[in-house]
Amino acid sequence: MSYSTVIEGASFSPSSQTEISYQARQLICLDNNGYIARVIAHTDPDYATVKQTAQANDTLTTLQPNQYVLPGFIDLHIHAPQWPNAGLALDRPLNEWLDTYTFPLEAKYQDTDFAKLVYDGLIQELLANGTTTALYFGTIHNAANLELAKACIQYGQRGFIGKVAMDNPEQTPDYYQDASAQVAVDQTEQFIHQLNELNQTTDLKQTPVITPRFVPSCTPASLQGLGDLARKYDLPVQSHCSESDWENGYALEHYHMRDADVLDHYGLLTDKAVMAHGTLLNDHDYDLFSQKQVAIAHCPISNVYFGNAVLPVNRVLAHHIKTGLGTDISGGYSPSLYQNIRQAVMSSRMLQDGVDNQLLPDKRGVDGSAISVKTAFYLATLGGAESLHLQTGKIAEGYLADLQVVSMQNDFQTETTDNIFEKLMYQTSKADINQVYVQGTRVK
Ligand SMILES: [Zn+2]
Repeated sequence: MSYSTVIEGASFSPSSQTEISYQARQLICLDNNGYIARVIAHTDPDYATVKQTAQANDTLTTLQPNQYVLPGFIDLHIHAPQWPNAGLALDRPLNEWLDTYTFPLEAKYQDTDFAKLVYDGLIQELLANGTTTALYFGTIHNAANLELAKACIQYGQRGFIGKVAMDNPEQTPDYYQDASAQVAVDQTEQFIHQLNELNQTTDLKQTPVITPRFVPSCTPASLQGLGDLARKYDLPVQSHCSESDWENGYALEHYHMRDADVLDHYGLLTDKAVMAHGTLLNDHDYDLFSQKQVAIAHCPISNVYFGNAVLPVNRVLAHHIKTGLGTDISGGYSPSLYQNIRQAVMSSRMLQDGVDNQLLPDKRGVDGSAISVKTAFYLATLGGAESLHLQTGKIAEGYLADLQVVSMQNDFQTETTDNIFEKLMYQTSKADINQVYVQGTRVK
């Protein structure tokens, strides 16, 4: 049996929500369809033969002692058009940030050349940061959304892409909105067909996603129409849910229902739905998400600025809710999921201990909230994969070969494997990510 690529080296992979597995030396064998066909331990009798064959075929990549293979990361929530604003205006409240900074920028994607310029740069940046799959919000403009899909195909990233629907004239500016509910729904359906057509040209399929921006920016008619489309085409859905006090309060005020219940009412909480943030979800919402198998995209950096609370990840996982990690560019400033892994751990520790030093220790925090860096790694890999129904996020036979090879600079060869893993999670920068594979193809 010959393989398209054989990687010889050490690896870390998530084995559960709290544990990782480590292999010191193995052959990771990729097949021509982009899957991991076989993982051969150093003690396996076939090891030498498979290695020799790969060497003879010039398909062997042998890693250095300070290099490690990890699964590629999955960004479960990112606004592609907001990339030029990353790092800007994070001190503003969410509604002001949208009106003053975000909507004017997104409106510019009417210009397809501008879209191509930004998206070409963004996809390369994300791949260079080890992100092999991303769930994208686009804009209302399908020509620009297609540019995003083309950039994913050209540079080799698996994209899930949504034409943003936003037709509520009271909550969207007149220069950037769908002209009516019918237009929002029709354009969404048009994009589904356009993307399916584009997919005929590539093995790396891009998936259309039903994308009501969030409850405030949509009318009941568009929410209904989008829910119908999700069912008709059996497609993923993405939106924001209970992200901030303002958003959480909007549904209560206008619908007299919880934000999650409004989305559910219109058929948008399916087992393929991914809801961003959820910082203000309550136990009723968790039960609903769990029952409907809705996933949460946890965006810890963004939440510091706009979330008005810390998502209690352990509590969410205890409700058996699928959970992954998102950058939420540009509510979050960093395109790196490593940075979000770190922030997820840090935020959870602050939730655990509390932050008001005038309170006694037993009143200050929420017990049992701290997550480990292993759990944050799980969110960035397997948790995201499960949320998108993808067989990836893990180094094992039958999984998609979405991988990153990282090197540890601060390596003195005296560490336990847990220590090496922890240092990799905390110290890896873009420059340390040496190779990236998506569906078996090397893209960096
Ligand atoms: Zn968002």
